[in-house]
Amino acid sequence: MAVAVDEDFSFRFRCDSSRCTLACCHGHAIALNPYEVLRIKEYLGLSSEELEERYLLSHYDPSGLPLLMLSRDPCPFLRGRRCSIYPARPLACRLFPLGRLCDGEVKTVFMADACCPGIGRGERLDLGEYIAEQEAEEYVAMWERWVSFVEAVEEAGPSRMRQVFLKILLYNFDFSPRGAEPSASPEEQFLTRLALAEELISRTGAEAK
Ligand code: SF4
Ligand code: SF4
Repeated sequence: MAVAVDEDFSFRFRCDSSRCTLACCHGHAIALNPYEVLRIKEYLGLSSEELEERYLLSHYDPSGLPLLMLSRDPCPFLRGRRCSIYPARPLACRLFPLGRLCDGEVKTVFMADACCPGIGRGERLDLGEYIAEQEAEEYVAMWERWVSFVEAVEEAGPSRMRQVFLKILLYNFDFSPRGAEPSASPEEQFLTRLALAEELISRTGAEAK
């Protein structure tokens, strides 16, 4: 069960993968935002097409949002007992046993009953300390920007043609619109693509209704 926690929440945690069932790498598939996909792509040095074909699942959400999903049944990046993309792991993996979700408002949750022997061990950390320890600050900031974009897509309503364009604009990093060239930082590339996608939505919004 995931329990919502506030900014004052603190908990004791130390990962010890030698004595667990790797609960954090198994379970339902997770949606990756384009920033997370880009970080994995750059880490592995694959083209967008190769990354999607080899490791990810493409999903067209009824809301009008194209998504790339990471299966965790188990996760394709799990090698033995270790994560083969650890420096580029997505936010959900960085935050576990915490999580972030948005159901009208952004919440941080704690999976107190996760089958993880790391919970209750190690040093006590508050939310900010844990996010810093997991080097998740940029991931959290990009996720928050992504959430506001998702709301704009949902508001605009579904449009199959727009969904196809959004998929290219957001997830095809082999195509580089101005400002999102590979020489730009991953954050700049992601933010530029989102801004262009929002422009596309506002231009096509009327047609889709
Ligand atoms: S976070 Fe918990 S479940 Fe995941 S590897 Fe560490 S100890 Fe195991
Ligand atoms: S990306 Fe790494 S940490 Fe995340 S579920 Fe896969 S193997 Fe586990």
